[in-house]
Amino acid sequence: MDDGRNLAGARLLMFGPPGSGKGTQAAVLASRLGVPAISTGEMLRQAVAQGSDLGNKVETIMTSGALVDDETMAEVVRHRLAQKDTGNGFLLDGYPRTKGQARTLEQVLQDQDVHLDGVVFLDVPTEELVTRALARKRADDREEVIRERLRIYHSQTAPLLGYYRDLGLLRTVDGHQSIDKVTEAVLASLAEAA
Ligand code: AMP
Repeated sequence: MDDGRNLAGARLLMFGPPGSGKGTQAAVLASRLGVPAISTGEMLRQAVAQGSDLGNKVETIMTSGALVDDETMAEVVRHRLAQKDTGNGFLLDGYPRTKGQARTLEQVLQDQDVHLDGVVFLDVPTEELVTRALARKRADDREEVIRERLRIYHSQTAPLLGYYRDLGLLRTVDGHQSIDKVTEAVLASLAEAA
């Protein structure tokens, strides 16, 4: 099995509905590939916990399951991707979630003269997503909020799959298996494409 060495320095997106295991896989894969895992959801939760201006601005939006506006997210991501640790690749989890965000990301990377190497889509059946999300017990994991996040995912985020497929970047992986098996399947799909 490929150990990910040929993927060192890769710039990757983890893509998938809420509850698909993006965050878990991003953390494991980032450490296997030696690149930072960047989760916009985690950054926003930290901002809320710290009570920063950003945190105060996004707290209510996050608990309702809605998306934070593209302009605010552009600032967060532009700032994060300007940091040195992303110079040798990164694994972005939870961004982009709208067409506007995809355009922003493209611009940020173009400004740095780099490009994405792959977009991993974790494919998981919807009923499994609700079960998983309810088991996490996060503040924004009440059932109606989970359903709202899924609705927003389908209307605003899922269309990006076609965009990345057209660019030849999309790698679809069956996310309905054990954590280890998903990790191996992701590494295999990326190695195939490398
Ligand atoms: P996540 O941990 O990725 O599920 O994100 C948790 C919440 O943070 C989401 O439900 C949104 O309210 C907000 N959020 C995270 N990433 C983004 C993004 N790229 N665009 C808009 N809102 C986001």
